[in-house]
Amino acid sequence: MIRVKNLHKTYSTERGEVEAVRGVDFEVAKGEIFTLLGPSGCGKTTILRCIAGLERPDDGELMIGEQVVFADGGRTMVTAHTRGVGMVFQSYAIWPHMNVFQNIALPLMRGSFKIPKSQVRTRVQDALRLVQLEGLEDRPAPLLSGGQQQRVALARALVYEPKVLLLDEPLSNLDAKLRADMRFEIRELVKRLTLTAVYVTHDQEEALVLSDRIAVMRNGRLEQVGSPREIYERPSKDFVAGFVGEANMVEARVEGAVLEDGSGLVSSPVGTLTCVLPRHVGKEETVTLMFRPDNLVLCKGLHDDRPNLFPGRIVRVAYIGNRLKCEIQVGSSILRGEFPSSSEIREGEEINFEIPSNRIRVFVHQGRH
Ligand code: ADP
Ligand code: MG
Repeated sequence: MIRVKNLHKTYSTERGEVEAVRGVDFEVAKGEIFTLLGPSGCGKTTILRCIAGLERPDDGELMIGEQVVFADGGRTMVTAHTRGVGMVFQSYAIWPHMNVFQNIALPLMRGSFKIPKSQVRTRVQDALRLVQLEGLEDRPAPLLSGGQQQRVALARALVYEPKVLLLDEPLSNLDAKLRADMRFEIRELVKRLTLTAVYVTHDQEEALVLSDRIAVMRNGRLEQVGSPREIYERPSKDFVAGFVGEANMVEARVEGAVLEDGSGLVSSPVGTLTCVLPRHVGKEETVTLMFRPDNLVLCKGLHDDRPNLFPGRIVRVAYIGNRLKCEIQVGSSILRGEFPSSSEIREGEEINFEIPSNRIRVFVHQGRH
């Protein structure tokens, strides 16, 4: 278990103070993979380094397992090597003049993790088996592929038998196919060893595939924490919706007529739409509508008795295997749509489509609430 409470970290630089982490709270359960997802510079690595003990927070409280490792502005500060944490970085930090065995055994041969020499070989072999590199002990580091280096780095983190695994963009140097495989392997490993894992990435697809829960970050804060499905289907803010998955964002004005079921009419450059409005939204208020490209449904014709049907013109079509990705001109707006590739759509064609009202999310503009 990891608990992060009210974490703050500011760096002093020549150009002034950088508030990297501005009051972050979260808990990660045993066996859980918790992902910090956000654009470069939002504070992900800083949080990870604070948990590992490589960075000294300004304020807050950190717990690993039952142990308080940081509290009281630093009066409690457990050193990094006694926190029981394994860490994997984007740069694998593998020694090029050593073979696989030496790279992994190094921390066990000296310093605070030193164990009797007779046990070192078994521990290294166990770690190599976990990452499916058994038999590669004698391979010189420069002869390893990118994927193998990544596994060696993982084995080196696991050789301590840590309870907590911290991973900082560990897959970003691998090619797409290997990256996709390794996501599943890392997830499987964390589950099998019942580790507590914090995973850092700026890759939304990686976060969705790998995580039990995701925290979407911006500017040193957590914007939303939830399961991959919650984050994708029920983003709480337009920033989250835009960062995770593709999204259409349309500015709209509330026309009123909020019904008992919470639905109301809004006018937008796309047309007049029915959607479910958040409570307390007032008439004439400006809101942002969000819907995913694959929420659009192609229709044969327009029916006056059905809401949210619009005519549009296909500006672009891209075939991506099982789907067609389209850009659709509706009035002065361009919407993105995604349809089954069996749909017969051509560039320049006029189509009709529906935006189902229950798929539209409405964000009230920031600063009001
Ligand atoms: P991320 O991992 O999300 O890309 P970081 O945690 O590395 O973000 O950085 C957060 C902010 O803190 C950035 O503005 C970065 O420039 C700044 N920063 C990170 N490390 C240092 C440091 N050692 N000294 C000064 N500023 C730093
Ligand atoms: Mg980083």
